[in-house]
Parts: sequence; structure tokens; C-alpha cells
Amino acid sequence: MPQTPPSPPADAEARRAIAPVICYPVDTLPAPDPAVMAAAREGLVKQAEVLVPPREARCFRVAAGQVFRITSVEGPQVGDLNLWNAADLSDRFYSGKTRALHGTHVTTGDRLWSSFPALRPMATIVADTLEWYGIDEFGGSVHDVIGTRCDPYTHNLLSGGQYHHCCHSNLTRALADETGLPLAEAERHVHDVLNVFMCTGFTRDTGQYFMKASPVLPGDHIDFLAEIDLLGALSACPGGDCGAEHSSDTAPCHPLLVEVFDCAATPGHTPPPVNGYDRSHGR
Ligand SMILES: [Zn+2]
Repeated sequence: MPQTPPSPPADAEARRAIAPVICYPVDTLPAPDPAVMAAAREGLVKQAEVLVPPREARCFRVAAGQVFRITSVEGPQVGDLNLWNAADLSDRFYSGKTRALHGTHVTTGDRLWSSFPALRPMATIVADTLEWYGIDEFGGSVHDVIGTRCDPYTHNLLSGGQYHHCCHSNLTRALADETGLPLAEAERHVHDVLNVFMCTGFTRDTGQYFMKASPVLPGDHIDFLAEIDLLGALSACPGGDCGAEHSSDTAPCHPLLVEVFDCAATPGHTPPPVNGYDRSHGR
């Protein structure tokens, strides 16, 4: 028998009416240098590209000061992005802290922060053709850091079966291929993603994570300045535009293009320092 929830106290409305405060005001957050942001949009000269096939992932490398661009080609497609310090796989993108600092979705001027103890910007978003989207009437927005990545474990939990082309598995295979690590070891380095082009939010009534068809069209792109030397991996999600379902082969899927450019910000780019906490933890 379901338990009856406790009835609200007499002052429930007064308690609910307390105004929220922002957890992490960003006034003191090191902001990207506007001159560097501008330089990252000038003089782009392509150095490399990789086409990520549908329901697969590929790795790419970007040096500090270079720009990498993810472009929708052929049709609407969501991408799941992992980033590592090219010199140390344990230093990787920290989706949760990026969300705490910048909000549920990121766009131009926001930064992708790394895990502890470095906690520094790994990349800065310098252009986003979907910046106009903002927040829609459902509370949805684009490029989220709230989802994790579709994975075969959750799929098995909810639906049973063995599906091998979830972003988690795609990223695992791509990292194993790039580094030569055994599959099981590569898997441990795969982490929560930036959901590029994905349109998501939380329902207002139940607080559940929702997705809706991405507004991305071929030609739309998002550009990142690499703040440190990066190893990246991008999966073209089996959910396609993520308008219906993922973790299956039913959604129409398209490739994603990753291009790496030299730009006016590249020569002599200075990586941001690692975090200043002394790591003594009070001992
Ligand atoms: Zn996915």
C-alpha cells in the first residue's frame, strides 16, 4: 500500500515563498579574456577533421590555443562529448561542476571545467549558432550538462537486452582505439558528457529530465577554444535528434563533423593555471 504523504504544515506557503539565491555567483569566476575570445574567431586555418559516423564515436586531438568546431551535417543529430587532458586521462571534463557554475546548458562565453584537483577551464565556447534558442516555453534549452550519456546499463535496467551503440559504448571503443587501452580500462575514463545540440530540460510538475527534437540544422556549429592540450571523443548519439528515443536503432541518425583549426589565438596560448587550493584538507 502506498503511504499517504504527510499533509503540509500551516506555514507551507510561507516556506515555499522564500526567494532562491544563486549557489555560485559567477562575478568572481575567472572570465574568458574578450581579446582571446575575439582572436579565437579570426584567421581560422583548418589543420584536421574527422567525420563521426552515425551511432559511432571518434577521437580527435586539439592543442592549447587551437579551436575545434562540431558541425551538424546531413541532418539533425545530437553529439555526446568527452574531453581529457591529453597528458593525463584522470584530468577530465567535469559536467556536474560546469552545470553548478554556468547552469544546465552552455553557450558562447561559458567554459568546460575540469575535474578536481585541477578545476580549470579545459575549453571555452567561442561561437554557437544555436545561441538564439535561449530557454523555450517548456524550460528546454540546447547543449546540456544535465544528462549523463546514454548507456547500455540503464537500457538493460529499464528495457532489458544488450544494445552496443549507446554513446557510453561508442566513446569506450573510440578511446580504446585511440589509446590502445583494453576496453575495460578505457571504459573507466568515459565520463558524463556535454550533450552537444541536445535540447533538454526538467519538467516543472515532476522535475523529470526531458528531451525534445533538437533545433539543430545542417550547418549549425559550436566552436571551442582549447585552453589546454586536449584529447576529445565525440559520439553521434543513436537517438539522432533525440526527439523520440535513444538506445536503439530506430531513430534516423546522421554524422557529425569535427574540425580543428589554428586561429589568431593559437600562437603562444597560455593554459590557465590549475586550481589554487593547497590540497592539505585541513591536515
Ligand atoms: Zn547518446
